[in-house]
Amino acid sequence: MTSPVPKPGILEISPYVGGKSSVAGGVKPIKLSSNEGALGPSPKAIEAATRAATQMHRYPDGGAGALRAAIGKRFSLDPERIVCGAGSDELIALLVKSYAGPGDEVLYSQYGFVMYPIAAHSAGAVPVQAPEKGYRTDIDAMIAKAGPKTKICFVANPNNPTGSYVTGAELKRLRDGLPPHVLLIVDAAYAEYVSRNDYTNGAELVDAGENTVMLRTFSKIFALGGMRLGWAYAPAKIVDVLNRVRGPFNVSAAAQAAGVAAMEDLAFQEKCRAHNDRVLSWFAGEVAKLGLKTLPSVGNFVMVEFPSTGRHTAAAANEFLMSRAIIPRAVANYGLPDHLRVTIGTDDEMKAVVAALADFVK
Ligand SMILES: *Cc1c(COP(=O)(O)O)cnc(C)c1O
Repeated sequence: MTSPVPKPGILEISPYVGGKSSVAGGVKPIKLSSNEGALGPSPKAIEAATRAATQMHRYPDGGAGALRAAIGKRFSLDPERIVCGAGSDELIALLVKSYAGPGDEVLYSQYGFVMYPIAAHSAGAVPVQAPEKGYRTDIDAMIAKAGPKTKICFVANPNNPTGSYVTGAELKRLRDGLPPHVLLIVDAAYAEYVSRNDYTNGAELVDAGENTVMLRTFSKIFALGGMRLGWAYAPAKIVDVLNRVRGPFNVSAAAQAAGVAAMEDLAFQEKCRAHNDRVLSWFAGEVAKLGLKTLPSVGNFVMVEFPSTGRHTAAAANEFLMSRAIIPRAVANYGLPDHLRVTIGTDDEMKAVVAALADFVK
């Protein structure tokens, strides 16, 4: 008896496990497991998607023209160099599938986003990790790991789950140190939250050559994760490749409409960024008062560190928080068994987390 066998690599994938969204007892949980924007989507995005729903019998604009124009206007980028996807996850998968295959290597950082190895295995390529220093991408280690088989190098900037970032100068040093045939993908999913002078989202490297792509998403500050919407800013030749391999209608009409409205609502974006700045630093301060460390984060989430032995481990904290209907993200699958990642929620949600942690460490 024989049965269909998937291509090499597929069964090496550890399936992506999303953040939990429910707790025992049917209580409405405080969901801080997926870095979804604390304040929800812009009311204008909801209105636009609702309006679009009346036309759901129509196929969407396959080229997402209005959306690319809105993105281009907001970030001063040429819309011709933008490709939209059903979440940046789709674009990650399409880029890997297009530029790497069996025998090739896909390089990423030790605690880099888990979709990178998943996409590599899916394409039959080998994911290769470069060690980090101090929970940050180590540029020299990345360059050292890049060899003739390396086809793609991913850097999440800022990185999820660590919350750390590399500076514009470091990013440039990485690009200069990689062989030119290596596609550098700067995944700037949290770019809109970062207000550091030395941070760049990588767009300048896209403009400077033919071998760097920047990825962005509507799932984080724009809080449209349920719509599945992301975009790539890429050199013309890579835009052409993505437009060949993507589905002709890969972004739904409702997602496009919501995306345009969200992109144009600058006041709401600024409100979300300011909220995150304020609540993130307040939360880190409160956690420190409890004797727990956090990793410095420029995203909308923070890693809380727990002792590796005794009563107050991260696993115990995870269970305790869940018993209070608070859902953090365990990150043991990243090789980080002593941390929990906590998304920055509303003021009330974060006060509840601090109260629960205070009871936990008692
Ligand atoms: C959330 C996230 C994404 C994916 O977002 P989509 O919902 O697929 O757009 C990509 N990269 C990183 C680093 C993320 O944290």
